[in-house]
Amino acid sequence: MKERKKAPLALPGDKLAVSEEFLPGMHTYDASGLIRALRAGSVVRDMKNMEISVQPAAEPELFRVDDWVTGQVEGSQANSANVHIFFLNGKPTYKDFSGMLSLRSLSGGGRGARRTTPVKPGDIVRCRVFSLVNGIIHLTIDEPDMGVVAALCGSCGRHLLKGNATKLKCDECGNVEERKLARDFGTTPIEP
Ligand SMILES: [Zn+2]
Repeated sequence: MKERKKAPLALPGDKLAVSEEFLPGMHTYDASGLIRALRAGSVVRDMKNMEISVQPAAEPELFRVDDWVTGQVEGSQANSANVHIFFLNGKPTYKDFSGMLSLRSLSGGGRGARRTTPVKPGDIVRCRVFSLVNGIIHLTIDEPDMGVVAALCGSCGRHLLKGNATKLKCDECGNVEERKLARDFGTTPIEP
């Protein structure tokens, strides 16, 4: 049996230990000798392996596969984006949760695949929970009701308006942007 001791919640960036004491485990990083939290969650000290890690704050009993969530894109990589979750099944969440939006199926593929931009940081997105493996809330927008529900112009910051199924336009500056839109994009107020 593993010797495990639970400690209070950590927020991203919190100092957890010094690297002389512990090895950085899951969801932590070593920053010049200090082990810090990469995500919000509870701190787990594995005294046998002298490893400190963070168990993400997602509570399995709160989120279920097939739930839908609405939140804001915080950062995006080629195949995934972090989403700060504000609503679960249309109701506000009062704690800090983040999910990982998979973009693999949306980022092109096929002949003459052009790189598309399904989401951008700052967008409000509605997503489906498709997996809770490893305590991570895995999200997808690969269905008509899921996707971006509100977005701001990358040039001037105004609200973008719907152009067609995948294009958004800015009335203010004429900028045209591309997203994977939810069917009801542009509805006000936003339907979480
Ligand atoms: Zn604009």
